[in-house]
Amino acid sequence: MTIKPPTPANGPFHDKRLPELRMLERLIRRGAPALRSRVLAEVEDKGRTLPVYALELGSPRREAPVLLLCGGVHGIERIGTQLVLAQLDTLLQRLRWDRSLQQLLQRVRIVLCPLLNPVGMARGWRCNGNGIDLMRNAPVNAEQPGPWPVCGHRLGRWLPWYRGEPETPMQTEALAICSLAEEQLATAPFTLALDCHSGFGMRDRIWFPYAGRRQLLEHAAELHALLRLFERSHPHHPYLFEPQHHHYRTHGDLWDYLYRRHLPRETQIFLPLTLEMGSWLWVKKNLRQLTSYTGLFNPLVPHRHQRTLRRHQLLLDFLLRAVDGWQNWLPAGAQRHHHQTGAERRWGTK
Ligand SMILES: [Zn+2]
Repeated sequence: MTIKPPTPANGPFHDKRLPELRMLERLIRRGAPALRSRVLAEVEDKGRTLPVYALELGSPRREAPVLLLCGGVHGIERIGTQLVLAQLDTLLQRLRWDRSLQQLLQRVRIVLCPLLNPVGMARGWRCNGNGIDLMRNAPVNAEQPGPWPVCGHRLGRWLPWYRGEPETPMQTEALAICSLAEEQLATAPFTLALDCHSGFGMRDRIWFPYAGRRQLLEHAAELHALLRLFERSHPHHPYLFEPQHHHYRTHGDLWDYLYRRHLPRETQIFLPLTLEMGSWLWVKKNLRQLTSYTGLFNPLVPHRHQRTLRRHQLLLDFLLRAVDGWQNWLPAGAQRHHHQTGAERRWGTK
């Protein structure tokens, strides 16, 4: 199944602006009953209702380790949603015949929220339907934020990166992803999240908290162990692993918020990652992309689009296996100390 070009509507949802939602609903129908789906929230768009779906594949045991995949937090970054859908498509196809995947999914649960911000995506906006940037909307302030206004502001929805009014509840979509993550975190001994974005830099980056403070996260040793595992297993991988605050510090980051809330649960590990696909490279190779807003965040040339969807399969497969084998590589005792030192050397506060 291909993601592009958009195909004629053949599902219950017909909106030419949202081929991704049609694709998602097709996969839901095709994947059932192994793929379990529900509507997490509904959001309004010009008088019609759009669903925010959550999907589950694999072990229903609440104490199973979890891989959480998200996309479409920023509506303009369609490639993130398309990547999660491509991965889901691959998983559903392989699940028919791949015995090792069938066995792995008896132990692991994959939870997906491929399209968190359908109104933003339908309109070609970064923000949601209320003009609010969901990745600036959590009730957490950055220490030494900067630069303004990218860090998030309260001036008004006419300027991107708007956080929303102070002292108001989080937006429906932000609440939906938080409740989905916290439902999993409540019982899973180990949770790895990957939230797929695009729009920054020439390279593909894997970011992790903190976004809002110049501080190594409390699980820097665990992240360093995961990175070393990846580097040893796939020495030619293209990614740069780094804390988000190395680039800019933002208010209201949802993953900072969820990570901090989860910290008191000391025996349960939560590692939230963000894949930031380096879209400037697509622009550099095809300067015509500069003439369209979508082109700044998404590969427009078909072969580059396909290459992007292909490029991250290795990472996604690795993360799935790292979740399954988490007890085999998570460091303890002297090993943890060794990785803590490695993390400080590699990512020490800039
Ligand atoms: Zn983004």
